Amino acid sequence: MRATMIYGAGDVRVETVPDPVLHEPTDALVRVLRSCVCGSDLWPYRSRPAGEQGDRIGHEFLGVVEDVGTDVGGLRRGDVVVAPFVWADNTCDFCREGLQTSCRHGGQWGADGVDGGQGEAVRVPQAAGTLVKLPVGEDDELLPSLLTLSDVFPTGHHCAVTAGVGPGTTVTVIGDGAVGLMAVLAARRLGAEQIVLMGRHEQRTDLGRDFGATDVVAERGDEGVERVRELTGGDGTRVVLECVGTEQAIATAFAVARDGGTVSRVGAPQYEKVPMGFGEFFRNLTLTGGVAPARAYIEELMPEILDGTLRPGRVFDRTVGLEQVPDGYRAMNDRTALKVLVRP
Ligand SMILES: [Zn+2]
Repeated sequence: MRATMIYGAGDVRVETVPDPVLHEPTDALVRVLRSCVCGSDLWPYRSRPAGEQGDRIGHEFLGVVEDVGTDVGGLRRGDVVVAPFVWADNTCDFCREGLQTSCRHGGQWGADGVDGGQGEAVRVPQAAGTLVKLPVGEDDELLPSLLTLSDVFPTGHHCAVTAGVGPGTTVTVIGDGAVGLMAVLAARRLGAEQIVLMGRHEQRTDLGRDFGATDVVAERGDEGVERVRELTGGDGTRVVLECVGTEQAIATAFAVARDGGTVSRVGAPQYEKVPMGFGEFFRNLTLTGGVAPARAYIEELMPEILDGTLRPGRVFDRTVGLEQVPDGYRAMNDRTALKVLVRP
């Protein structure tokens, strides 16, 4: 089959790899219907040292079950399913707490002999716990929105949930990438009143307004902080959702938080230290967030996609075939595409 490999910065290739087969009785084989490129795929795309050995890549996909091992209950050939961005048994103590990203028997796509999602098919370990059945056909128009359940929508949701967003909360969202826009959608869904979106790409912030942002701040740094404070009576917002992962973004997050407020981060941090010194201590600020246990949220978020209330799939602004995946990476890295959908 054909699958995407990453060899180094700027070096993504689509190659022929062995067809996946069932290894364990808990495995399933899934033929991929839709996959996509994640903002976090761009970190290795920008920084991975060049090497002879490539690795499989891609961790967001949905597809059709082609075969199941003898221990996979609840799934059968022909089911359309979505996979969260890590695989997990969904039964261990961490999974039962809704922390499938810490599963004792789980792992990551594209690592340790497990296929990546940007390919024609995937062997899915712990299939009964990992995969969630979708009540749609193989070419449903909802597939792009349902694919966001794999990562980007639950990640935005996790950011809002861990920050305690509820009815009437004031929120600043930092970043107009796909995760930031999903955080806007999630915050609105949870009842946030004022949602200030910090981002400077007008097409993206316009989509953010459609998703529920009440204000947009295009300025960055001190100027951006000042604008948010102006919009919030000088105080900042009770919740800040940091969806970028850079040092500047986390610094801005603390600066636009209201005293006593919460900063939640879901942008994979590209920094080691957070600015939580005496000043933040004296302002009683809380830092939360982390990697999103997408599996924990899929059943909760799916119904509003199925009934058309939410259309998170609007974040996909380009579709490519599998052989064009390298172009998709380039487009996202150049920021000429917001999020690229892959149709093998
Ligand atoms: Zn588990």
